[in-house]
Amino acid sequence: MIKRTPMVAGNWKMNGSRSLVESFVNTLNDRPFNGLDVVVCPPVGYLSFFVAECFSVGGQDISDQDNGAHTGDISGEILTELGASYVIVGHSERRENHGESNELVAKKALKALDNNLIPIICVGESLKVREDNKVNEFVGKQLAAVFDTLSSEQLSRCIIAYEPIWAIGTGKTASPEQAQEVHAFIRQTLADNDKSLAEKTRVLYGGSVKPDNASQLFAQPDIDGGLIGGASLKTEDFIAICQAAI
Ligand code: PEP
Repeated sequence: MIKRTPMVAGNWKMNGSRSLVESFVNTLNDRPFNGLDVVVCPPVGYLSFFVAECFSVGGQDISDQDNGAHTGDISGEILTELGASYVIVGHSERRENHGESNELVAKKALKALDNNLIPIICVGESLKVREDNKVNEFVGKQLAAVFDTLSSEQLSRCIIAYEPIWAIGTGKTASPEQAQEVHAFIRQTLADNDKSLAEKTRVLYGGSVKPDNASQLFAQPDIDGGLIGGASLKTEDFIAICQAAI
């Protein structure tokens, strides 16, 4: 059994300020986390401040194009030059607000890999899908688009994040059992493609993770850490969540 290094990634979304970056960096620098990969995904303009302090950083989105007339988009090459090592793709807010399809998300994951960025590929269902008992079917389709586009070798460089939409920013966390059930499905889907992929791939949980629910979620066998939104903007909460992942 391969031991997967746990990971906690903070998604600041379109939040933060220069002063928050400074206090965050100063506080986290005093608390190194051995045996845990900690990544911050701030708005792109703040990446360099984190990189200067040797933090691992990621973008929140990437264009599926290399360059050109794509106002407001950001390329893999620019993210890499700014010092990013990771990039979130297919966050539900991108899927909803920008109409990103499963196929586009898969292309973005490929573009990330082409630029030596590790994609954190987000999947997850709406409340309606859950109430209709179609979670596996829905998440399965999201994953299928990725499997159709990436080779096993490319998939082995990806991270998956299960983020039920109804739990993002709502304060309604999936119970550890609900989350584990979908994580086990994701791992089985990976295994159906390639057994070693399933053992190696980190599958993070995201959706209202807080200091008081993190330990129980991270204790589940198929949950390898978290993608944290709101709580990643509160330094002490983020630290407590990181501690829960070790
Ligand atoms: C997210 O934005 O990816 C997220 C999980 O947000 P929150 O933790 O606030 O639910």
